[in-house]
Amino acid sequence: MKEEIKAYNNVLELIGNTPLIKLNKVTEGLQGNFYAKVEAFNPGHSTKDRIALYIIEEAEKKGILKPGDTIIETTSGNTGFSLAMVSIIKGYDCVLAVSSKSSRDKIDMLRAMGAKVYVCPANVSADDPRSYYNVAKRLHEEIKGSVYINQYFNDLNVDAHYKSTGPEIWEQTNGMITHLVACSGTGGTISGAARFLKEKNPAIKVLGVDAYGSVLKKYHETKEFDSEEIYPYRIEGLGKNLIPTATDFDVIDKFIKVSDEDSAHTARHIAKTEGLFVGYTSGATFQAVKQYAEAGEFDENSNVVLIFPDHGSRYMSKVFSDEWMREQGFFDSVNLEEAQKIEF
Ligand code: PMP
Repeated sequence: MKEEIKAYNNVLELIGNTPLIKLNKVTEGLQGNFYAKVEAFNPGHSTKDRIALYIIEEAEKKGILKPGDTIIETTSGNTGFSLAMVSIIKGYDCVLAVSSKSSRDKIDMLRAMGAKVYVCPANVSADDPRSYYNVAKRLHEEIKGSVYINQYFNDLNVDAHYKSTGPEIWEQTNGMITHLVACSGTGGTISGAARFLKEKNPAIKVLGVDAYGSVLKKYHETKEFDSEEIYPYRIEGLGKNLIPTATDFDVIDKFIKVSDEDSAHTARHIAKTEGLFVGYTSGATFQAVKQYAEAGEFDENSNVVLIFPDHGSRYMSKVFSDEWMREQGFFDSVNLEEAQKIEF
């Protein structure tokens, strides 16, 4: 009998089925059990691999996409990387309109994956012609045979997580999950996973993470868009200056806001205590867990699942650079013991 070679046919077969990893040390002093769904284990190192593959394959099924066509998207980086990766394997061109807030590493990575990248100013309103939304729309109009992924306003973004992230968490926890804690950017991850989990057990609490400078928490509470909530902040991929239709506010029980500084320190702390090198929004997610715990959200029977969206290597020139942290003033309030460990 011929020996079989055990190989994946291509990198796309590795998308999804990410591990759930128990957090042991960073959780000291908190009541409950905490498990991280570590999305950096996707081949594109983030949760966005799931939506890139799912949305492109849905378009193929509907006959919208044919080889040689162009995929267009606005992205803080991760979705762009995943779309570029899927485009390579499936034979599409990938054109990305990116916010100037994105790290240099992310933009270089997109170009390394063959994408054509347009860098657009971050601090202009969504309706400004220079915003990455409008640049992408214009490119879509100009390039024949192009598909605009439009993750903020595409229900397929939510469906991707309803069909993969949600069921994986349910299976991995044997249905014993009591709380889901996740960041909201487009809202696809939290909405899709929450919708699936609440259909299985409506008692599961879904706790959202928002950023200071974003409108999501206030909108969830008041159903009104309050532009006073909006101001520039540093965390990429978390929160928003508009209301995405990909966010299902009805399946989210509450939001909490986290700061740039706390989230940065927490991301660094997770790496040092758990050996998990995860990104800025993973820091934001665990920071939110600490704040939710302080507010009495969990008890010793809680099984809390946190989504860690991406890998720390994407933030070497930001959160994981001492120089960047110092420039932001994030070391100004650290205690003496911590200050001794900082190398200048
Ligand atoms: N973290 C990072 C690093 C991201 O890029 C994103 C996506 N913008 C999110 C979290 C939030 O995920 P979602 O868009 O599914 O709400």
